[in-house]
Amino acid sequence: MTEWDTTVDFVIVGSGGGGMVAALAANAAGASALVLEKQERVGGSTAMSGGVVWVPDNPVMRADGVPDSYDDAMAHFEAVVGDVGPASSFERRHAFLTAGPEMVSFLQDLGVGFVHCLGYSDYYSNATGGVDEGRAIEPVPWDGRVLGAWLEKLQPGLAQSLGLAVMTNEARSLSHYNRSIGAFAVSARVAIRTFAARARRQALLTNGASLIGQMLALALARGIPVWTEAPLEDLIVENGRVVGVRAVRDGAPVLIRARRGVLLAAGGFAHNTEMRGEYGGDQPNRAKWSIANAGDTGEALQTAMRLGAQTALMDEAWWLPAPRTGKFGQSTLDQARQRPRTIYVDAAGHRFVNESNSYMEVGKAMYARDQTSRAVPCWLIFDDRYRKRYAHLRSSPGRFPRKLLESGRLKQAWTLDDLARMCGIDGAGLVETVERFNVNAVQGIDPDYGRGDSAYNRALGDPNHKVHPCLGPIDEPPYYAVEVVPGDIGTCGGLVTDEHARVLDQRDEPIGGLYATGNNTATVMGRHYLGPGASIANTMVFGYLAALHATGPEGTEIESQHEPG
Ligand SMILES: Cc1cc2nc3c(=O)[nH]c(=O)nc-3n(C[C@H](O)[C@H](O)[C@H](O)COP(=O)(O)OP(=O)(O)OC[C@H]3O[C@@H](n4cnc5c(N)ncnc54)[C@H](O)[C@@H]3O)c2cc1C
Repeated sequence: MTEWDTTVDFVIVGSGGGGMVAALAANAAGASALVLEKQERVGGSTAMSGGVVWVPDNPVMRADGVPDSYDDAMAHFEAVVGDVGPASSFERRHAFLTAGPEMVSFLQDLGVGFVHCLGYSDYYSNATGGVDEGRAIEPVPWDGRVLGAWLEKLQPGLAQSLGLAVMTNEARSLSHYNRSIGAFAVSARVAIRTFAARARRQALLTNGASLIGQMLALALARGIPVWTEAPLEDLIVENGRVVGVRAVRDGAPVLIRARRGVLLAAGGFAHNTEMRGEYGGDQPNRAKWSIANAGDTGEALQTAMRLGAQTALMDEAWWLPAPRTGKFGQSTLDQARQRPRTIYVDAAGHRFVNESNSYMEVGKAMYARDQTSRAVPCWLIFDDRYRKRYAHLRSSPGRFPRKLLESGRLKQAWTLDDLARMCGIDGAGLVETVERFNVNAVQGIDPDYGRGDSAYNRALGDPNHKVHPCLGPIDEPPYYAVEVVPGDIGTCGGLVTDEHARVLDQRDEPIGGLYATGNNTATVMGRHYLGPGASIANTMVFGYLAALHATGPEGTEIESQHEPG
C-alpha cells in the first residue's frame, strides 16, 4: 500500500489560468484542492499574457449591450474550425459554449473584475457567426499589493516590460498614439493611470498578471495551498485509476493522494526541442522561437502519454510571426504586417497570405507556403513612409534603434532590387509583387488575399490612414526588410479530453481520475484561433469543467484508506 504524505480531494498541476480557476471551483464545491507549480513563480504563460479571454455570449459583453448567442457561436465554430476530430467534437464545443459564460459569472461573483474588449474583433469576424465588436474580455487593472509577499512570486506580466499599466485592448492604440485623436486619448489615459498608480505607490497589475493575481489572492484567502518549486514527477495509478501524484517539495519527494482526481493544467511543450522535433510534422519548429513561459517543457503531458492517453494536434501551436530584431530593441515591427505600406514575401519575392489576419493564420500560412517556396523565414518589406509614420520604440515616430540597422537585422536599400539581393530573395519577383500590390493598395483593395476585408483586419490597422487602414503603397525609398520566423506563444496539441475534461485512452475511454486542460490538451479551437483570448478561454473553461466534474456527483471518489496523521 502507498504511504501517502498528504491527501486532498483534487490535485492540480500548474498554476496558469486553467489551474487557478479549477482550484477556486473545487474549493467552492466544498472540496480540498492543492496547486503544484514547478517554477518559483505562479501563473505560467497565463500571467505573462494579455490576459484576454474569448468567451462567446459572456455576461460582460452582454452588460455592454453587445448581442451574441450560443447558436451564433456554434455556427462560428462549424464555419471556421470545421471537423478536426475529437478535440473539437460537438460535445466539447457545447461544453465550452455553455460553461464559458457560467465560468465568467462564477469568477465575477467571487470578485474578479473584467471589462469587455470592445472593438477587439473576432479573428474571423466576417465568417458565419463572427462578432465585429468582439467576444473577448480582460481583467481590470488591479492593485497587486493585496498579495503581500506573494506579489514577488507572481510571474511578471506583459505590461511590466513596458512600464505601463496598460490593458491589452488599449495597447493597440499606444503604438498609434500619433495617428488619431482617439488613439491619443487612450494613450493619455494609460499614462495618467500609470503615473497615478506610482504616486499612490500601487502595484497596479493589468493583463494576465491581473488575471492570475486576482485568482491567486482569492485562492490564498480561502486557504487553498499553492506550492511553488513543486514539480509533478509522475502519476500514481492503482487498479487502472489515477489516485495521486509523485511530486517534489522543498527538494524532497512527496506522495500526494488525490481522492477525487488529478488535473493536468501544466501547459504545453513549446520549449521541448525533442518533442517539437518528433511531433512537428509539416510545421517543424525550433523551440527557441517560442515566447511561452519557461515551464512549457511537456513532462506532465508525457506522464499521461505513458499511461496510454490519446493525443491529437501535436504539430499545432499558437503561432506568432516574429520579426527577427533580436536584442536591438523591442520595436513594434511585429505589428507592421497589419498596417499600410507593408507586405510579407517568400524567397521568390511573392506574397502568400493576408498579412492582416491573425498571428496563428499567418504562421500557418508561412509553413504551408514553405512546402513550395521558402517562407520559413519570410520577409517583412516596407517603405520609408512607413518608417516615418509609426512609433517603433516607446515613442519617437520614425526612429529605429541605430544598432538595428548596423547589426544588419534591418536591411535598407534604395531600390527593391538591391533590397532583394541583400535578403537573398528574387529581385524580379519582389518588384513585380510590389507593383501589383501598389496598384490595388491605392484603391484600398487587395484582390489577391482580401487584406483589410474583415473588421478584425481593420481593428489593428492605422485608424487614420486613407483610403484604407490596412493598405497603402510601398513606394517611398529607401525600402526596408526584416526576416520573420514563425514563433509561438505555446503549443496547442496534446491530450484528447472529453466534454468533462477527462483524459481519454486509445479506446476513447476516460482514464479514471485523470483530467487535463489548456495547452496540455488538444484544444477545442482545433487549428484556428477564433478571437483574442481563445487560448486562455480554452484552459479556463475546461479547468472549471474538470473541477465541477471531479468534485460533483458524476465524479468518483477513491475508497478511504489509512493515512498518516
Ligand atoms: C506574451 C504572451 C501573451 C499572450 N496573450 C494571450 C492572451 O491575451 N489571450 C490568450 O488567450 N492567450 C494568450 N497567450 C497564450 C496563453 O497565455 C497560453 O496559451 C495559456 O495561458 C496557457 O494556459 P495553460 O493553463 O495551459 O498553461 P500556463 O498558463 O502556461 O500554466 C502552466 C503552468 O504549469 C507549470 N508546470 C509545467 N510543468 C509542470 C510540472 N511538471 N509540475 C508542476 N507545474 C508544472 C508551468 O510552470 C506553468 O506555470 C499569450 C502568451 C504569451 C507568452
